[in-house]
Amino acid sequence: MDTAKLQQADVLIVGGGLAGLSAACYLARSGASVRLYEKSTGLGGRASTTNYDGFLLNRGAHALYTGGAAEEVLQELAIPYNGHKPGSLYVLRQGKLHVFPASVGSLLQTSLLSFRDKLELGRFFSKLPTLKTEELARVSVNSWLHETIKRPRVREFLTMFACTNVYSSALDLVSAEVLAYKLQLSLKHPILYIDGGWQTLVEGLRQAAVRAGAQLINNCRVEAVEYTAGQVQGIQLANGQRVQAKAVIIATTPQEALKLVEDGSYAPLQQIVQDLLPAPVACLDLALSRLPDPTHPIVQDTAGPHFMTSQSLYARIAPEGGAVIHTFKLLDPTRPSEPQEDERALERLLDSAQPGWRELVLKRVFLPHIQAVGMLPTVASGGYAGRPGPQVPGIHNLLLAGDWIGAGFLADASLGSARQAARLLLQEGRLNTRIEAISVLQ
Ligand SMILES: Cc1cc2nc3c(=O)[nH]c(=O)nc-3n(C[C@H](O)[C@H](O)[C@H](O)COP(=O)(O)OP(=O)(O)OC[C@H]3O[C@@H](n4cnc5c(N)ncnc54)[C@H](O)[C@@H]3O)c2cc1C
Repeated sequence: MDTAKLQQADVLIVGGGLAGLSAACYLARSGASVRLYEKSTGLGGRASTTNYDGFLLNRGAHALYTGGAAEEVLQELAIPYNGHKPGSLYVLRQGKLHVFPASVGSLLQTSLLSFRDKLELGRFFSKLPTLKTEELARVSVNSWLHETIKRPRVREFLTMFACTNVYSSALDLVSAEVLAYKLQLSLKHPILYIDGGWQTLVEGLRQAAVRAGAQLINNCRVEAVEYTAGQVQGIQLANGQRVQAKAVIIATTPQEALKLVEDGSYAPLQQIVQDLLPAPVACLDLALSRLPDPTHPIVQDTAGPHFMTSQSLYARIAPEGGAVIHTFKLLDPTRPSEPQEDERALERLLDSAQPGWRELVLKRVFLPHIQAVGMLPTVASGGYAGRPGPQVPGIHNLLLAGDWIGAGFLADASLGSARQAARLLLQEGRLNTRIEAISVLQ
């Protein structure tokens, strides 16, 4: 697209991941002129999927956690997708695989726990639905588990399960509110693996945004957001061109957002980014000519914060007979990572859960360090309440969206904050333009 002809719009969006695309849909549907800039060749950011001869590999294992803002937004925007519930979970402990105690039936059945262990875990899960999760905002995951769980085997199991749920092994820092809320949601709402991988959601959002009239410009890096006297003016592109707008939404990671605002010298954002706890993970993603052991498709390790899932057993992401396995290790953001050791740990998990996998590999992708969540709600920041909201303090009509903004975790935060940012602009009449009222924005 010839960017030289595009000089102004109502709203400019920086970033073409789930957050940027959702914000573009809401705003363009309401009649605003919207232009979105993405620096990469393709759209989708961390939700993109790569097609290797019909094997569709997400950037690490991705599941849609239903019952939150992500599902709501996808429904409101009528984004089509087919999702499938995974099943048959196992726990790997000292080389043996045990049924994962995720329901009353599997709790009774599992050989992982003794009778007394089962009683304690059963009590823990039975108290979850009525728990006021915000009361745990200033308690760490580790403290919560130490206070509520006395039996070592139950604590060991819940500690590893907690890492997988909060996407971090820094359990002394992460707020227990995150774990409790996520467990509450998953007791009531299914987790879904998506046919076609998460690119299905990205493509659905792309089409919806284009249909609504948004202009999506990829291969175009935004260099800076421009503002004067507390009012946003527009953006400057990497080629030096300036584009004016009534509002700008930054839908990038926090570190990228900071670079866009006066070379990172804008104090309120700088403070947020300085204090944040990231959630890096190491992922080993595999395309295999077949699944070695379909009887143990999903495995939680107890030797370390490692997880494996054979997603192609549930969702259409591999050619007939082939398999896609995602594994990941939750890293501790306070320590330097050791990519070689992390990769070996994931290989060891595969050796135990899927013996024979090495001979079947068609494609392997190792991502040593990718951010699963832009900003983890911590004890120090007071859980979700301590996260920044979409409005950048002190700069009128400069908004933020992404998985580090507002309440909600992972894609719930990305899509939820994108909707919130769009609402702020539309409902408060900040665009000063005639917009169509649509039900979801009222
Ligand atoms: C391994 C892994 C597993 C995950 N699992 C799950 C899961 O199971 N469930 C779930 O809900 N979520 C999961 N997530 C999180 C989910 O992928 C993210 O929350 C979501 O994709 C973030 O979308 P976003 O739009 O907020 O940010 P991003 O995807 O980071 O998008 C930001 C975009 O901005 C672009 N950009 C940055 N700077 C500029 C610039 N200057 N100019 C132009 N463009 C720019 C980037 O290229 C990028 O495309 C997982 C993430 C990872 C990494």
